[in-house]
Amino acid sequence: MGKALIIGCGGVASVAIHKCCQNSEAFEEICIASRTKSKCDALKAKLDGGKTKITTAQVDANKVEELVALIEKFRPDVVLNLALPYQDLTIMDACLATKTHYVDTANYEPEDTAKFEYKWQWAYRERYEKAGITALLGSGFDPGVTGVFSAYALKHHFDEINYIDILDCNAGDHGYPFATNFNPEINIREVSAKGSYWEDGKWVETEPMEIKRVYNFPEIGPKDMYLLHHEELESLGINIPGIRRIRFFMTFGQSYLTHLKCLENVGMTSIEPIEFEGKKIVPLQFLKAVLPDPASLGPRTKGKTNIGCIFKGKKDGKDKTYYLYNVCDHQECYKEVGSQAISYTTGVPAMIGAMLVMNGTWKGPGVKNIEEFDPDPFMDALNKWGLPWKESFHPEMVDE
Ligand code: NDP
Repeated sequence: MGKALIIGCGGVASVAIHKCCQNSEAFEEICIASRTKSKCDALKAKLDGGKTKITTAQVDANKVEELVALIEKFRPDVVLNLALPYQDLTIMDACLATKTHYVDTANYEPEDTAKFEYKWQWAYRERYEKAGITALLGSGFDPGVTGVFSAYALKHHFDEINYIDILDCNAGDHGYPFATNFNPEINIREVSAKGSYWEDGKWVETEPMEIKRVYNFPEIGPKDMYLLHHEELESLGINIPGIRRIRFFMTFGQSYLTHLKCLENVGMTSIEPIEFEGKKIVPLQFLKAVLPDPASLGPRTKGKTNIGCIFKGKKDGKDKTYYLYNVCDHQECYKEVGSQAISYTTGVPAMIGAMLVMNGTWKGPGVKNIEEFDPDPFMDALNKWGLPWKESFHPEMVDE
């Protein structure tokens, strides 16, 4: 039994909070704190009446002193950061000042440079070790479950993993010509950046969407997918011994890509502030304001997601391939928690990571990526809390 402070009350947080309330045996009490308190209050009103006690608070997570005051008042066992990647460091600072465990789902990204990497958060390692607290980085699906899958494959199926392909397929259709399934600003920054993959100890860079493959996804069928840079490549490249290459592919439909290209061409995806009618605005933030709110896609989105990892390596001296994946249905998620599958597949692992750190199943002071912990309790919890995984020992490979 424990207390969690959840920061942010958007798409992912809403699912994680529903799941904490379903899991009241672990989450005795939660405080939902975000920039817009009315959203926290609305969610509390929806979920009140169960066994988990819910309180709400207003907080600006860019301000360490506000976070410290809130943590000191609520005294949580863990802080679950489901705000935006820009707030990671201030929330980590507040956890350090109050000696409280920290969990997030996305690595820090400075607002002005669209470059996400772990170096800023890894720089806290020694301070977290000294304080005797744990920071669990990247407890969503990708990063998150993909790291747990990698640790599980290594523990149970391989002596050595040499190749990992992470495949993220969203075959959901929301009926809009263009919309993003999670925060549009974060999503567009990610997909309009150069691609890269990790090979033989170094990064190989590609132009955005330069590498395309078609993959026949179980329970979905063939889809176009494109190689992207993705944050878990950085930590898995270090934490999986014997690795030679890791790549990340995500599916995109033609309509999405055509719209994105057009928006890019006219400058709407830029993060450079421009002067507009005497005021400075960031084009991408303006675009976010006119696009559908990802939270509103829930009732409209039909179809499934399939996210997983294909491993190739050696077991007992022989070559071996193995595919671990989860299939999630948008409409089923909506029926259960009122959100589509993208928020669901991130919110469930966020709850599980917070639970395992909070109840001490995963312990060890320092700043850790998810694949550094024993994957088994997480894999069991995925089956229990709505993201059952499937495995295949003879998967279709990406390059065959
Ligand atoms: P949303 O935009 O829906 O929600 C973000 C929330 O954070 C909002 O409630 C927002 O408040 C709040 N927030 C923003 N700035 C502040 C601030 N300064 N202080 C307090 N609260 C703030 O995003 P999502 O729910 O889609 O995404 C949440 C996180 O999950 C992101 O970091 C995203 O990168 C990550 N993610 C990870 C995935 C994975 O698989 N690992 C997949 C998808 C997302 P307000 O309501 O006022 O705007």
